Amino acid sequence: MDEIKKAAFVQKQPRTEEDLALINAQALRELKAEEVFVFRLAACDDQVDRDNERFTLSTLDRLAELFVGRTVLMDHQWSARGQTARIYAAGVEEHGGIHRLVLRAYMLRMPETESVIGAIEGGILREVSVGCAVKRALCSVCGADKARKACGHQPGQTYDGQMCHVDLDQAEDAYEVSFVAVPAQPRAGVIKQYGGEGTPRSDAALSLALARQSLEELRYGGNFT
Ligand SMILES: [Zn+2]
Repeated sequence: MDEIKKAAFVQKQPRTEEDLALINAQALRELKAEEVFVFRLAACDDQVDRDNERFTLSTLDRLAELFVGRTVLMDHQWSARGQTARIYAAGVEEHGGIHRLVLRAYMLRMPETESVIGAIEGGILREVSVGCAVKRALCSVCGADKARKACGHQPGQTYDGQMCHVDLDQAEDAYEVSFVAVPAQPRAGVIKQYGGEGTPRSDAALSLALARQSLEELRYGGNFT
């Protein structure tokens, strides 16, 4: 299936000895605690989201494995200076019955990264887009894999009292994580396509725009205030 983009939010991450050991598993030389800045990203969960999609728990578990070692790209406003962060640990955390993928990332504290770290700490840079791919997009009404075949059920529509949603299943790959600018365009009237036989291919730019748009309304998680 095409790449899926989902919103994530920066949160504070206390830096423990365990974190430092995991970070050093990614680095070529031994890094000291004062050399690294760490943060965490509250990413996708197993609840039906505003795209009428949810990740299955086994998919979240597998994505946690796939994301370790992936880079975190900066918004284009910052990327020219070459700052980057890397995911050094990931896991699925459960709060109130909701299972969420949480990614832990680190950056090196250097003169070149001072401004971007300041922007993350200050809550200026906090909206993130997480890219991944799954093998199956299962219709909750009839069980059809929408990635292969259009079944006719529209996610978000109700059939016999049951709201149709899509179960994103079997993680295929984890892509980069990017800080994003929050756009102003509303997403009214857009219906997502999955690219299965019988439907038009989905548009990657549209998917990203929808993921970015969803950032505006989701306001869970903390920042650095
Ligand atoms: Zn269906």
